[in-house]
Amino acid sequence: MTHWLTIAVPTPAHSGLGKPLTYLSEAPLPPGCIVRVPLGTREVLGVVWDSAPEPPPDLSAQVRAVSSVFDGLAPLAAEWRQLLAFTARYYQRALGEVALAALPPQLRTLSDVQMARRLKRKPHQAGSAVEITPQNEALTPDQAAALARIEQAPGPFLLFGATGSGKTEVYMRAAARALTARPDAQVLVLVPEINLTPQLLARFAERFGAAAVVALHSGLTPAQRLAAWLAAHGGRARIVLGTRVAVLASLPGLALIVVDEEHDASYKQQEGARYSARDLAIYRGKLCGARVILGSATPSLESWHASEPAPQGPGRYLRLTMPHRVGVAPDADPLAGLPRVRRVDMARQPKGTLIAPPLLAAIGERVSRGEQALLLLNRRGWAPVLHCADCGWKSECPHCSAYRVFHKIDRSLRCHHCGFTQRVPRACPECGNLDIGTLGRGTEQLEERLAELLADVTRPDGTPARIARIDADSTRGKGQLEASLAQVHAGEVDVLVGTQMIAKGHDFRRVTLVAAINPDAALFSSDFRAPERLFALLMQAAGRAGRDTAQGAASEMWVQTHHPQHPLFNALKVHDYPGFAAQQLAERTQAGLPPFAHLALLRAEARSQEAAQAFLNALARLAQDALAAQPPLAEALSQLTWYPAVPLAVQRVANIERAQMLLESPSRAALQRVLAACQPLLHGLRAEHRAIVRWAVDVDPLAV
Ligand code: ADP
Ligand code: ZN
Ligand code: ZN
Repeated sequence: MTHWLTIAVPTPAHSGLGKPLTYLSEAPLPPGCIVRVPLGTREVLGVVWDSAPEPPPDLSAQVRAVSSVFDGLAPLAAEWRQLLAFTARYYQRALGEVALAALPPQLRTLSDVQMARRLKRKPHQAGSAVEITPQNEALTPDQAAALARIEQAPGPFLLFGATGSGKTEVYMRAAARALTARPDAQVLVLVPEINLTPQLLARFAERFGAAAVVALHSGLTPAQRLAAWLAAHGGRARIVLGTRVAVLASLPGLALIVVDEEHDASYKQQEGARYSARDLAIYRGKLCGARVILGSATPSLESWHASEPAPQGPGRYLRLTMPHRVGVAPDADPLAGLPRVRRVDMARQPKGTLIAPPLLAAIGERVSRGEQALLLLNRRGWAPVLHCADCGWKSECPHCSAYRVFHKIDRSLRCHHCGFTQRVPRACPECGNLDIGTLGRGTEQLEERLAELLADVTRPDGTPARIARIDADSTRGKGQLEASLAQVHAGEVDVLVGTQMIAKGHDFRRVTLVAAINPDAALFSSDFRAPERLFALLMQAAGRAGRDTAQGAASEMWVQTHHPQHPLFNALKVHDYPGFAAQQLAERTQAGLPPFAHLALLRAEARSQEAAQAFLNALARLAQDALAAQPPLAEALSQLTWYPAVPLAVQRVANIERAQMLLESPSRAALQRVLAACQPLLHGLRAEHRAIVRWAVDVDPLAV
């Protein structure tokens, strides 16, 4: 008997073919089956989406047959298919593209015979037993209260816990409860960065037994990724710990989702379907009845606002507050356990000061006591610009609208946007002046200068201070980052210099001083989220200090700034996230920005800026004309503001000009309807505008 099926296949993103295609099969295949089907001249992986009792009437005779089926694999659950359908729809991508990208890439190259062999090796058993190591340590009162609420209410929860308040312990106890409640229950724990997974993985494996815990992230080999995915899909993995990709994993027993450091920008995918793993976690939790816990010491303003209790706020999330660091008495001032924030007014320092004398002295003191210091500078390389004072030449990248960064280590000028690299010229390429200099400072320079500045400082055993640097340059090789972090944990480094990579989540036990060397740039950025990001970064950085309670009280966070009285630093001084958030949200209400409005960006790339902008502006005109004629869409359209196309902040990268157009609406639904209606228009326009290299839609963009 012939069965008609619609099957999601990886159609090219911009082909305009968004829907599953129809195939036929001799055997009945339930929805969710993973199959191989012909597509054009290739054979591709597909997911059976639906069965149709009869062929659809508009079909020509060329319906092709399913080639093969992965027999041993259980079909993907209806909830998984619903999640993927929502993701594709909401982020304006083709269903097949999104669904197939969520499957491990190695599935594409395995034959069904190979797959059968693999499944035999790891029998398809029900959930492996978790062996939960009993905990002797008592919960802090904050932790106990948070857990009690998680037990009673459905959530979703925003766990607003100070750095070092023991959020991970709350996640693990909540996980233990979920796992013991049902033998097939699964827990998904999302973390922002791969480099945070090993530490957390170790903690979970120790608590729940290594067999039950599986890591799932893009740093795995294809074989490891397939194995992890199969463990999750088959239910053997009871706890899946992963980065944003893991939110789309098949987890048939999902009972709890934790999103750690939920404010982190890495939860937003920046290519293809630009989904927010944090937002999808909320959706997925609702879909399958799983509890969701978002955790952070500096929540995103979206989540903070959503957890503003009703009736003043939306009250969509339940806010759980843990203000005290572990070890601080519950009746003590919560500030007692947090590092003291000290601002250095750089306007009062001699011009060109890299590290102000009092900060330098404080670092020296820490080193001589055997403690660690952490110095944050968000620029890698030696200096961001090389220039000639005579003729004004600057080290611009010939292919981008950006300067090339001077790297002293290999005497190169490197573009951080397109990678274009040249040896540093001996003389000014414009006028021949031999005396060319640098502007600004990067981590390389800080590391080198620090060695000179701390030359007289000795450690308790009389040896000199050991300085290390962690940034994208120092950690390029495989395993380098892990090795560097291990050195810091082992106490083999006294002063660590680095970019924001070192500020996130690490549980450094001996750091008692953290300093932000030059955080001012973000105060005056055109991106409305820049202050939010800076505040989170500084709070997180401060959170690396004094995590060992014995030193907590004596730890310090230093900020070098030309604007010591800026409200952002005033809030930081008293570790006042709620105060900072209130002030930011007031500004956002006034300006009609998220979370009080919803945004989408249309992006276009072309050989010329005019062409890129023309494409976007043409779309705006076309959409407003075409949609206004259709009453239901006209209504949505009336709730939308279209901004004119503008160049991106870095408008040219690798000789491609980039433009964007912002769409804004107080109604998420209206924005969604208009975006969906724009899809066919975009495909049509693309054919006319031949200069366009690429275009993309970014729903809920992070950088505007
Ligand atoms: P956060 O994630 O909130 O920054 P962590 O979960 O890393 O904090 O906890 C900080 C430290 O406190 C960890 O070393 C953890 O083992 C310890 N800790 C957490 N809860 C307790 C507790 N109830 N009693 C003693 N130590 C705890
Ligand atoms: Zn010159
Ligand atoms: Zn470049």
